[in-house]
Amino acid sequence: MTSYDAIIIGTGQAGPSLARRLAGSGMKLAIIERDRFGGTCVNTGCTPTKTLVASAYAAHMARRGTDYGFNTEGEVKVDMKRVKARKDYVVGLSNRGVERSLKSLENCSVYQGHARFVSTREVEVGTEILSSDRIFINVGGRAAVPEIPGLDGVDYLTNSSMMDLDFLPRHLLVLGGSYVGLEFGQMYRRFGSEVTIVEIGPRLIPREDEDVSEAVAVFLTREGVDLRMNAKCLRVSKRDGEIVMKLDCDQGSPEVRGSHLLIAVGRRPNTDDLGLDRAGVRRDARGYVEVDDELRTNVPGIWALGDCNGRGAFTHTSYNDFEIVAANLLDGDQRRVSDRIPAYALYTDPPLGRAGMTEAEVRRSGRRALVGKIAMEDVSRAFEKGETDGFMKVLVDTDSKEILGASFLGTSGDEAIHCVLDAMYTKAPYTVLQRAVHIHPTVAEFIPTILGDLAPLSKQRI
Ligand SMILES: Cc1cc2nc3c(=O)[nH]c(=O)nc-3n(C[C@H](O)[C@H](O)[C@H](O)COP(=O)(O)OP(=O)(O)OC[C@H]3O[C@@H](n4cnc5c(N)ncnc54)[C@H](O)[C@@H]3O)c2cc1C
Repeated sequence: MTSYDAIIIGTGQAGPSLARRLAGSGMKLAIIERDRFGGTCVNTGCTPTKTLVASAYAAHMARRGTDYGFNTEGEVKVDMKRVKARKDYVVGLSNRGVERSLKSLENCSVYQGHARFVSTREVEVGTEILSSDRIFINVGGRAAVPEIPGLDGVDYLTNSSMMDLDFLPRHLLVLGGSYVGLEFGQMYRRFGSEVTIVEIGPRLIPREDEDVSEAVAVFLTREGVDLRMNAKCLRVSKRDGEIVMKLDCDQGSPEVRGSHLLIAVGRRPNTDDLGLDRAGVRRDARGYVEVDDELRTNVPGIWALGDCNGRGAFTHTSYNDFEIVAANLLDGDQRRVSDRIPAYALYTDPPLGRAGMTEAEVRRSGRRALVGKIAMEDVSRAFEKGETDGFMKVLVDTDSKEILGASFLGTSGDEAIHCVLDAMYTKAPYTVLQRAVHIHPTVAEFIPTILGDLAPLSKQRI
């Protein structure tokens, strides 16, 4: 048995940064990774998908050449081998960077293998037992696979196996019309595949406001993505070399066929084979490790960070978990998860940048609120770029004048949202942002304009 000052399980978005801080403070530590260094974000999540989205965007813009005053010779065809090679190059830089930095970190031993708790203080990796009074779980999650009759009998894809494709699926069926499904769906349509997205609910990305779902559906449909809403997949089978999905639906064909199937119906935490029972660490009904506001589990000396604690599902929330734990443990600075304002982006084109509450959440809260909204058609920068899909919407508390939330669906929406997010962190009245002078021509310059034209939410149907 080897004993350490700290053990970290997983090298996702919290583990490596925490390792650097702990090692830097003089602790002797072990970090364990069973698969690829850098975890989901680096290998099968953010980095590769955004690299692929960039290739898809370039192809899309090339096809729109005549809109901008140039012609391309013939049809724009995507070479998937080169698209994948570009993605692999970008991923490789990050993945090798994480591995190198951990393996060269003083005071840090890197173990490669699957880690499991043996007791509250001991973890096994292969034949070795490591012990410590401080254990940090950063095991992330994986694609959830629903129980659909026949699914076992077909070769389906997940966000992980999608990363190996170096050819164009003739017809990609996507099960799930939310964040992951929409990014892959639009991307592969732009690469040249036929794409059908099957969603059980009445609209895409149901966690977003209805106006967001509608606008996204409009631009995806215009690009030729076939959307099947209110469609429950009853059975999957293979017929004549094709994948066939039988649907329970009111409209459209009760059967869709394609060459490949991507499952994109959500994520589940990697906590089922971690020996948590032997450590006495509690999980909730969905398998997420239960943590308090400082990310401590119910067992003293064990913390859980990142997607596996269910308190966030993003790279920035996992990294913030590291900051919270490091601040509390090493800096005497009491940072908490509840100080975090929800924020994220959906990387369709145009992207959706989100901060704080949705309009639906504000309405449900019953508070008095104001809303302002502008169509991207009226935003000069979007007009100049020829990218006018979407809108920007901001919600404000009538009484406190604090900004409650915003949805920016439009070109640069993922960047411009940070003006609102930062203002929310200051808790300043919205009038501060309203009076700021922004640079022309930018998408963000219209945020003061929106805030200067707010109307009561209760009367406003948007
Ligand atoms: C397709 C896709 C696109 C995404 N795009 C974005 C985006 O644009 N922006 C964004 O913010 N988020 C995005 N995300 C989410 C983001 O990738 C995750 O929120 C983030 O990676 C979570 O990091 P983490 O630190 O919790 O764990 P992970 O990054 O999942 O890392 C966990 C690590 O632990 C290892 N591990 C697990 N169990 C064990 C064990 N028992 N022993 C040893 N090692 C173990 C795993 O191999 C893995 O390397 C995306 C996700 C997907 C699937």
